Amino acid sequence: MSPEELQEIRDGVSRLCATFPMEYWRELDRDRRYPTDFVRALTEAGYLSALIPEEYGGSGLSLSAAAAILEEIQRSGANGAACHAQMYIMGTLLRHGSTAQKQKYLPAIADGSLRLQAFGVTEPTAGTDTTSIRTTAVKQGDRYVINGQKVWTSRAEHSDVMLLLARTTPREQVTKKSEGMSVFIVDMKEALGKGLTIRPIRTMINHGTTEVFFDNMEVPAENLVGEEGKGFRYILDGMNAERILIAAECIGDARWFTSKSVAYASERKVFGRPIGQNQGVQFPIARAYMATEAAALMVEKACALYEAGQPAGKEANMAKQLAAEASFLAGDTCLQTHGGFGFAEEYDVERKWRETRLYQIAPISTNLVLSYVAEHVLGLPRSY
Ligand SMILES: Cc1cc2nc3c(=O)[nH]c(=O)nc-3n(C[C@H](O)[C@H](O)[C@H](O)COP(=O)(O)OP(=O)(O)OC[C@H]3O[C@@H](n4cnc5c(N)ncnc54)[C@H](O)[C@@H]3O)c2cc1C
Repeated sequence: MSPEELQEIRDGVSRLCATFPMEYWRELDRDRRYPTDFVRALTEAGYLSALIPEEYGGSGLSLSAAAAILEEIQRSGANGAACHAQMYIMGTLLRHGSTAQKQKYLPAIADGSLRLQAFGVTEPTAGTDTTSIRTTAVKQGDRYVINGQKVWTSRAEHSDVMLLLARTTPREQVTKKSEGMSVFIVDMKEALGKGLTIRPIRTMINHGTTEVFFDNMEVPAENLVGEEGKGFRYILDGMNAERILIAAECIGDARWFTSKSVAYASERKVFGRPIGQNQGVQFPIARAYMATEAAALMVEKACALYEAGQPAGKEANMAKQLAAEASFLAGDTCLQTHGGFGFAEEYDVERKWRETRLYQIAPISTNLVLSYVAEHVLGLPRSY
């Protein structure tokens, strides 16, 4: 995709976001509500189906285009976390789903009649150690019976279907612990009250996150994605795209923070001059800007490798980490630059500061990225 085409997409997203003023996001944040109208507008404009091929009714765009869309959303001060997952989790379906599954779900996701926003991987006891998950799926005739629990399943209350990772073979019976897990498409509207319970978790951000319980929940066998036992690999396959897209969101956040910092530092006068005239105020802003631009280059590199079909694990992880650090540095600098007003809701800084902090914890925490680079890139001894 040419730089001009990417710019057109950015301009379009930016125009759409401008129709949702900051007050809209403040109110949602205050009441912990889902941005239904915003998600509808993004879907209708085709942005949320960016990565769905045209043959399934999507826009069939590149990862760079999807990254540009998410970056622009964040850069406008909005919060795309309400719907970003749909962009990357449908990749599992696209790459590993059967033709029948793709024909059933992808066009409906593309036209907005079906939301695939929920992704059930994390469990309370397993945490980051995904191969220790305890949710089980046992095949009984033409269905699987699912028991267990997930935590931090975001947007479960606002999604029609969920992609779920469960153990189909006990860990003791597989040669490699990463084997024996499978991915299922769960029709949540159908399962609710029939073995599926969703409980919201109130958090420091408006993320619609929940804990989800399965008590003999039945899923038709045809909802198994790909082969039984290969689910962990399918999830891993999607992680590079996920990390690159989250990194792009962080770049958008960082750029929003830095613009706000520059504007406020130029206009706020204390001791008879703009606070931005003091180097003590300028330098942290310049530092955050530099960190952001460096991280943005890594995001671009990761995108280019991914699109060329080259291994991109190293760059995707580094991009996510560097961008998450840059966005928090820019956010913290912005809060500091605003002094007490940074704490006032009406400036949106405190909200964005809370929101961008997430990306050092989810979808993967800082230590795990560092560990990946230490072991898989630098060849240091394995720590776990
Ligand atoms: C708001 C929010 C939304 C989320 N949405 C989803 C979702 O939609 N779907 C989903 O499946 N999950 C989701 N998650 C879960 C998220 O991916 C996990 O919280 C994250 O992967 C960390 O896992 P954990 O919380 O269990 O931390 P733990 O695994 O308990 O780790 C706690 C701390 O210890 C560190 N640590 C653990 N092991 C090691 C080690 N060996 N070496 C060094 N440090 C280590 C970690 O880096 C971390 O800092 C969400 C989380 C949040 C907070």
